[in-house]
Amino acid sequence: MDVALKIDVDTHPGLKLGVPRLAAMLKAQGVAASFYVSMGPDNSGKAIWRVIRNRGFLAKMFRTRAVSMYGLRTVLSGTILPARQIARAFPEVIRNLRRRGFEVGVHGYDHVRWQDRIDRLGEAGIRAELEEAFEVFAAILGDRPAGFAAPGWRTNATALRLLDNMGLSYRSDTRGRAPFRCAVEGRILATPEIPTTIPTMDEVMGRPDLPDGAALQRFYLEQFRADWLNVHTVHAETEGMAYLESFATLVRALKERGARFVRLDELAGNLKVAELPVCEVIRATIPGRAGWISAQGPALEASG
Ligand SMILES: [Zn+2]
Repeated sequence: MDVALKIDVDTHPGLKLGVPRLAAMLKAQGVAASFYVSMGPDNSGKAIWRVIRNRGFLAKMFRTRAVSMYGLRTVLSGTILPARQIARAFPEVIRNLRRRGFEVGVHGYDHVRWQDRIDRLGEAGIRAELEEAFEVFAAILGDRPAGFAAPGWRTNATALRLLDNMGLSYRSDTRGRAPFRCAVEGRILATPEIPTTIPTMDEVMGRPDLPDGAALQRFYLEQFRADWLNVHTVHAETEGMAYLESFATLVRALKERGARFVRLDELAGNLKVAELPVCEVIRATIPGRAGWISAQGPALEASG
């Protein structure tokens, strides 16, 4: 059973506190993983206040304890307090990840701007987000990333087309079933897409049928399957902080079941890209998550 852990880092405290703890836990268990870091400012306060205005958010916030999880400084970041930098504030944390054998990829520049405004940014706006993110990455690590993971699993035709020309080995922008090639505006893109295949913890936490940690563990162990590639996205802000122990328990249980943990760049290197199915990228909703995400559409007729 192959398991790829995709760890998204959305915030300043996520990189400062969550990433070192996750790295230490994974290293102690001898487990490989890929980290995707937002390279620009932490405007998560803006996102949190935006969703507070949405119906149903408050209930979810209390259910998932978002504020106690993120902390007051983050809730205010980019609102009445200035946005703090994420990657640039902790370059050593990022270099340490690579030194310890983890993959480091890019999770956008301004996570909130990308997630909220991708369809209004236009080509110049999206290009600027990507170029700034890759510049910060190069300033810290001295090279280019193998992989890009779209903030909030949101992408569009412009972003996909621009990313296809950036020399990546893969993208992980969507939710879906298995690696595929994206058909965009009648063209098949060269860069393979490796979708997240398993629901995230914040999507399932608080479900009435999953009342406690033990039920959540059972649910997750049922999600991981031997007959497909399991790509599990976790967050530095949740599994790296309040839920570190429960995530460590899950990793241990997966190891006991013989899971082989693989980095996404290694996976991408072993893909036979020309043989991957061709799918459109569609928009979908996911239980427990607000708004739309990009998803793997049905496979199109093989067209070479
Ligand atoms: Zn994210």
